[in-house]
Amino acid sequence: MPWFCGSKAGGWILDKCSYGKSIREGNTVFESKHPDCVGLFCFDHSSNHGAYAGDALVVSRMNLGPGGKDVPKMKAGWFTVNGIRVNQVRVNENGDPKGIKAVLQERGEWRDNLRLDCVTCPEGSSTCCGRKILGSQPDFKAQQSVLTEIVLRRGHT
Ligand SMILES: [Zn+2]
Repeated sequence: MPWFCGSKAGGWILDKCSYGKSIREGNTVFESKHPDCVGLFCFDHSSNHGAYAGDALVVSRMNLGPGGKDVPKMKAGWFTVNGIRVNQVRVNENGDPKGIKAVLQERGEWRDNLRLDCVTCPEGSSTCCGRKILGSQPDFKAQQSVLTEIVLRRGHT
């Protein structure tokens, strides 16, 4: 049975504070009305629905070097070496966010003269610059929006 939500339909799917405290604490309207159900959530293309969590693996938030103004501390990522998964923390020994160069060096993906990014990356390239290489890594590619993370974490789809 469809359950319509939104500000014009009488409520919000995940409470009135879509990305806020109420979601993280589990006070969702859907779950209170249908406690034993798994929801299938569909969202429109509002830019708010594609927002990432503060600690998400988003390469555009990173600098080439460590730290920097407004650079967030990201959650741990991972990569594989000979089929073995290696977790990778995203802060260095000083507690600063690692830069793209350090992250790629640890993964064996950095090469001399690699630039941070291109003015315009070649169509389809995943190796032209640091941002493209890191953004093509499985952990970065698997990064979901905060809304999708919440829905999936709560057992819905
Ligand atoms: Zn590029």
